[in-house]
Formats: sequence, structure tokens, C-alpha cells
Amino acid sequence: MTSETPCIETGKVVAIYYTLKNDRGEVVDSNKGSGGKPFSFLHGAGNILPALEQHLLGKAKNDFVEVELAPAEAYGERDPDAVRGVPRSAFPTDREPEVGALVEGRSPDGQPLAGRITAVGAEEVQVDLNHPMAGERLFFEVTVCGVRDATAEETEHGHPHGPDGHHHH
Ligand code: ZN
Repeated sequence: MTSETPCIETGKVVAIYYTLKNDRGEVVDSNKGSGGKPFSFLHGAGNILPALEQHLLGKAKNDFVEVELAPAEAYGERDPDAVRGVPRSAFPTDREPEVGALVEGRSPDGQPLAGRITAVGAEEVQVDLNHPMAGERLFFEVTVCGVRDATAEETEHGHPHGPDGHHHH
């Protein structure tokens, strides 16, 4: 043994290629393929879904992992109570609300809300505040392309830096 291969654990910066598919086998997100750059995250810092982090523990460069996450491990179950009727008067008058459009607003207690319009009536617009992937099983295909120690600065910031990082200062 001349050198030890670093394995994925808390505090490592991990670079991956990944494809995310939903229950219907549709590709929802991917950075594989031509020109795709590796995605880097700081393991244990909540940069990615915690359940996905768990499945990647102990993996090393060049490992390929298939991970299936139940809705509860991903973006949660769909909450039927999160579909709300909003008076049309609450929407800007210069543009008609459209089904499928994303809307942002605030709840009565001031929390920011984001949702998608699911129906437009004469008096009310129905807005679904569930995460777009709520209720979905997620299927990840992950290829590990790099594992290294995080720098002190990265650990402090809670995300990777450098050419492969997704934050630049
Ligand atoms: Zn930073």
C-alpha cells in the first residue's frame, strides 16, 4: 500500500456526476454528458439531501452508486392542505394568472411562499405550495469523480470553493 484512497465521509469535498430520474423514468436533472462539469458538495454540510449523503458514505473515486429515495427521504409527501385558494385580486392585474406558472408571495404571518398555479377560476386561483418533487420517489445514478479533504475555509463556510465549487467569492 503506497497511498490510501480517500473515502466519502463528513468533512470531505466530493465531486460527482449524477443523473436524477423520477418514478416514471424521466430524467429530471443531470450533469452527465457532453460538457457537463462535476457537481461538488461538502459532505455533512447539508448541501445535498441528507439521505443521499448517507448512501454515499464510504464510497471512493470511480465508484458508481444507484440510490433510490422514498418521498419521506427526499422532498416529503404531498400535502393536500398545501393547495390553497387565493383571491384573484391578490394577483397583479397586468398579467392573467396561468396554470403551471410559478408564483411567489407571503403567507399571512409573513413567511415567503413559492408555489405553482394549478387552476384559475373566476374568483379564485388555486396554488399548490408543495415542493414540485413532493410525493416522488427519486432515483439517483451517481459516479464519484473526486474525494478530497475540505479546507478550513470551506469547512467554516459549509460549502466547497475552487474551480469545481458552486460558490465563488
Ligand atoms: Zn464560501
